[in-house]
Amino acid sequence: QLTRKHVLTWLARLGDIMRENKAYLTDLDAAIGDADHGINMDRGFGKVQEKLAAFEDKDIGAILKDTGMVLLSSVGGASGPLYGTFFMKAGLAVAGKDTLDATETLTMLEAGVAGLVSRGRPVLQDKTMYDAWAPALDAFRAALGKGDDLALALDAAVDAAGEGMRATIPMQARKGRASYLGERSIGHQDPGATSTVFMLTALRDVVR
Ligand code: ADP
Ligand code: MG
Ligand code: MG
Repeated sequence: QLTRKHVLTWLARLGDIMRENKAYLTDLDAAIGDADHGINMDRGFGKVQEKLAAFEDKDIGAILKDTGMVLLSSVGGASGPLYGTFFMKAGLAVAGKDTLDATETLTMLEAGVAGLVSRGRPVLQDKTMYDAWAPALDAFRAALGKGDDLALALDAAVDAAGEGMRATIPMQARKGRASYLGERSIGHQDPGATSTVFMLTALRDVVR
């Protein structure tokens, strides 16, 4: 089960993780973008961290929705609207809930990913964060079929997201700034797929 407390701890950790990995994510973006993905993630999740005290009494849906609004208003570029929409739609899907079982957690993640897809229109192999999210959702779904264990499903999702992230290296980007580089985008790991792996790993770690 995912509790309100888990969600608050997840968001707090994301602030720390994005701060610790600011230079790493920015270096990845320097290779195929404009060297700001770490700056964007650190700014956005830092702002979320500052709001956590005000989220304390809210249900999971409201916490996630408000997180999305903070990201939308504080992060520019592609990733702000994409992750902002992810959290807003994830929150709307679980409005009013104080705990989520494994199936509800999948519903929440699926709604978030549907939101970012409607915003960015990524398809598989475009070399974006979606190349980490899509296999993660598939793996989560497949794990649920073997029993209703949230931690196991998140383990499977984290592994699949990591594989998806590494699989972006040989891809040629077809969305976002990296696509401007054409063939020169080949051979580099996508920054957004990397921050997505941090996100799922942190969620798994608070549940474990
Ligand atoms: P910007 O490219 O505007 O500077 P960021 O550097 O913060 O924004 O984020 C870049 C990441 O956003 C990319 O690594 C990619 O994963 C993701 N991205 C860019 N465009 C799209 C899109 N249309 N759909 C999904 N993800 C995208
Ligand atoms: Mg960038
Ligand atoms: Mg930018």
